[in-house]
Amino acid sequence: MVILLIHSHHDIENSLKIYTYILICYLLGLYVMRLFGKKFECDQCAMKFSKDEELIDHARNVHHHHVTKCNDCGKEFIHEDDRLHHSRKEHEKKMERRRQKS
Ligand SMILES: [Zn+2]
Ligand SMILES: [Zn+2]
Repeated sequence: MVILLIHSHHDIENSLKIYTYILICYLLGLYVMRLFGKKFECDQCAMKFSKDEELIDHARNVHHHHVTKCNDCGKEFIHEDDRLHHSRKEHEKKMERRRQKS
């Protein structure tokens, strides 16, 4: 038993190193994504924003774009498609959870 533990300890150490490496790569990836990734771009003047709220404010104030609101949580969207997607993704899941609970 002791021999087995010692033997596997070495393996654990090795796999810990690998997991740490994977974790660092993953976190670096997230960091890079936040810096350079997904910017919210205005359809009408190609201005870029880091937050969708900023883009929505811009669309409303600069272009007087009609903004739609989610009935469930009040989140605002420029495109009706986005709102529908959000509603499907965020709120139907919750409804499912409620159904599962009861
Ligand atoms: Zn614009
Ligand atoms: Zn919502």
